[in-house]
Amino acid sequence: MHSDIPITATGRTAVADDMTVTPVALSDGPREECGVIGVARPDGEGVAQLAFFGLFALQHRGQEAAGIAVSDGHRARVHKAAGLVTNVFTPEALAPLNGYHGIGHTRYSTTGINSDRNIQPFLVETMHGPLALAHNGNLVNAGALRDELLGRGFALSATSDSEVMTLMLAAAGGSSWEERIERTIPAWKGAYSLVILGADRVIAVRDPWGFRPLSVGRLPTGGHAVASETCALATLGCVDIDEVQPGEIVTLCDGEMVRRQVLAPATDAARCTFEFVYFSRPDSSWAGRNVHDVRQRLGTELAHTCPVDADVVIPVPDSSIPAAIGFANASGLPFNDGLIKNRYIGRTFIEPTQDIRERGVALKFNALGGNLAGKRVVMIDDSLVRGTTAGPLVGLIREAGATEVHVRITCPPITHACHFGVDMGHDGDLMAARLDTEAICEEIGADSLGFLPLDAMMRAVGNADGSNSGYCNACFTGTYPVPVAPPGTKSAFEGVLG
Ligand code: SF4
Repeated sequence: MHSDIPITATGRTAVADDMTVTPVALSDGPREECGVIGVARPDGEGVAQLAFFGLFALQHRGQEAAGIAVSDGHRARVHKAAGLVTNVFTPEALAPLNGYHGIGHTRYSTTGINSDRNIQPFLVETMHGPLALAHNGNLVNAGALRDELLGRGFALSATSDSEVMTLMLAAAGGSSWEERIERTIPAWKGAYSLVILGADRVIAVRDPWGFRPLSVGRLPTGGHAVASETCALATLGCVDIDEVQPGEIVTLCDGEMVRRQVLAPATDAARCTFEFVYFSRPDSSWAGRNVHDVRQRLGTELAHTCPVDADVVIPVPDSSIPAAIGFANASGLPFNDGLIKNRYIGRTFIEPTQDIRERGVALKFNALGGNLAGKRVVMIDDSLVRGTTAGPLVGLIREAGATEVHVRITCPPITHACHFGVDMGHDGDLMAARLDTEAICEEIGADSLGFLPLDAMMRAVGNADGSNSGYCNACFTGTYPVPVAPPGTKSAFEGVLG
């Protein structure tokens, strides 16, 4: 559904009230977070289309909803809805989104349950003109900030921290959006990589811990783009790609890029290690490291720390493919495909019938019997979260004739929930928080199970001494880089509006 600004000052955005989203999860993995994109072109040529293709490249980060807001200098418009980027944006939906500046968002719900009113970008009218915001991350103090806004008489229409951020900026004092941002962000604790749209500019903002990636590049035909991952900037043909630094705000306006360090970077930077293990696309780079290369090194370290006598190494596609290659190269075992994934199933909005639900992972994976029968198989997977997928996959491989199945995981056991924008469930949901390695191995029916130790993972990420320096590893260690108020659930705001 489309909405033009001006709209109500309470920030009500334009999504049909009767639209309910009930996605069906078909995977056990940590859920994707969100992806953001911003585009600024002085000639205004194809801004919404560029934002669309940027979001399309970020689809892996969120598959529940998508939106784009564009400003022509006077008026801002937004179109957003539940569904994949290609479902939400038809040519008819994109056509009215004309302007010089645009931002976009693809969503998996982190704070705020997956409801239409939480779909981003949030677009509000303010006394300074239109303001739209799209957010990747999660504030750990959003509840207190929300209470403060309610105490000041604000009306809130959504249940996410991103709406809180939008309204705080809308109400802030200052003579420019940059000044209002600078005054507001010291109150925000936690993870935020933001793209913000004003009438005549796009502003990128990154938290001082640097939890989530955010990069900016120069468009080949003039102007700039900013995106969660460099793969989206490469898709748009960007050159001179650089990271938005922790604590930095970057303004894209009139074909120029202006960078300002407004908050000192945290002394203990906290880049999310899981971006390398699972989330980011392998053709993205972050902190000067290519994700595919890191994953291959994860496999190499895994072969050294958890060796096994076997006949073939297979990945759980797609994110474990580079690690399986690394494991095979380092161990001297042959690499082959053993599981074929339906790449299009993702998260479906169609409720499966009971008999299809019982088929579980078979909906998503088929085993290649010819590559598995009579073999001792090493199955490489990126992570083990709730533990609902590993067992059925081991079963599929055995049914295909494997004589042994050895599971190797490219990160340590996940024992703690994430409060910085990744939905892994709560501590009680996490298999490794309840069971030790031996018990997990028994439960998933594997012949052996090995997790990559923390220091080996960090060596693969790029810290030669195996230290955590510069990275968040809280889901493995329970040591949170920002104090976390218990208990943060993603639907914590739903008491009033849920
Ligand atoms: S807790 Fe884990 S998933 Fe969350 S930011 Fe830290 S490393 Fe990433």
